[in-house]
Amino acid sequence: MPAGEKISDRIKDGVMREKTPKLYIVIPCYNEEEILNESLDILTGKVGRLVSEGKVTSDSRVVCVDDGSKDSTWDIIAKRAASDDVILGLKFSRNYGHQNAILAGMLESRDIADCVVTIDADLQQDIEALDDFLGKYMEGCDIVYGVRNDRDTDKAGKKITAEGFYKLMRMLGADVLPNSADYRLLSSKALKALSEYPESNLFLRGLIPTMGFKSGVVYFDVKDRTGGQSKYTLKKMLSLALSGITSMSTRPLELILFIGSMFCILALVIFITAIVDWARGMVVAGWTTTVALLCLIGGMNLLTNGIVGLYVGKAYIEVKHRPRYILDQAIWDGGKKPDEDEGQA
Ligand code: UDP
Ligand code: MG
Repeated sequence: MPAGEKISDRIKDGVMREKTPKLYIVIPCYNEEEILNESLDILTGKVGRLVSEGKVTSDSRVVCVDDGSKDSTWDIIAKRAASDDVILGLKFSRNYGHQNAILAGMLESRDIADCVVTIDADLQQDIEALDDFLGKYMEGCDIVYGVRNDRDTDKAGKKITAEGFYKLMRMLGADVLPNSADYRLLSSKALKALSEYPESNLFLRGLIPTMGFKSGVVYFDVKDRTGGQSKYTLKKMLSLALSGITSMSTRPLELILFIGSMFCILALVIFITAIVDWARGMVVAGWTTTVALLCLIGGMNLLTNGIVGLYVGKAYIEVKHRPRYILDQAIWDGGKKPDEDEGQA
């Protein structure tokens, strides 16, 4: 993306599409047994309505990606897929995390669907916004971002941390739409581009805007979860935030250089003062300052080393080129088997 170009610059009219799209809806599922059946009822109902209104083709599908659930999520998916052609299922060999689950669903669908929408299994995001997503797609957009209207349904803690995180990301130079969710539409063209990004350190909300393409925005409401607990633990949220920062920006490393230089200048001033004090015979005074500065510099050293270590660690994971997910089972149109799959890398 050229310097200075923002997502908002790409939100403009595209060439209208005429062909009714084949839509694949991808839902990541991690221990969602309490709500999955209900969510699938709602989603298949919605797909049925979209088909009858002529907005999507009748071979549109709902792809459930089981992210290594420990409960009966996969059994539910398998059962539903057996009785309903609209439902497809992919099962990971273990828990790879939400970002990898949506990536897998998108990549596996990229050659089959005209467009893919990702949405959480708890359907907290308003599925009626699907019509707007499709509308934008028909207007020629290859990427349609879902942006939530407000954060009223979030708990105070989550609201503050999320808003702070988006501010921080923008300060660090990443072009992330505030309050954008992983509820978005990608055309097959955008999916093909996404498949060429090999990184394991995934933060799709930051990565997708770097791809360019004509983009649109759809605003939607967020509801409370109707069942089960949030599967995004504090640890998972922190790890997503760290991936976001380390995969999108090297500014923290530049900041370290800046802080380091400031400390060097400070050290020089202190050194000169110490010499002057020594010359005036005041060597004992200043002990407190010395200890305080030692602690401060020691602490800064550890902190900055930690930040560098974080990047080195992430780079280490990238160079290993390990698969981003491994499929254990797949219930797919035409009975595709996981070992025939090339999307795993
Ligand atoms: N999820 C996942 N893997 C994980 C954690 C979550 O696939 O390790 C899925 C989860 O099943 C849901 C979506 O990611 O479909 C969002 O999770 P959740 O609704 O719990 O997060 P929140 O809405 O609280 O941010
Ligand atoms: Mg949720």
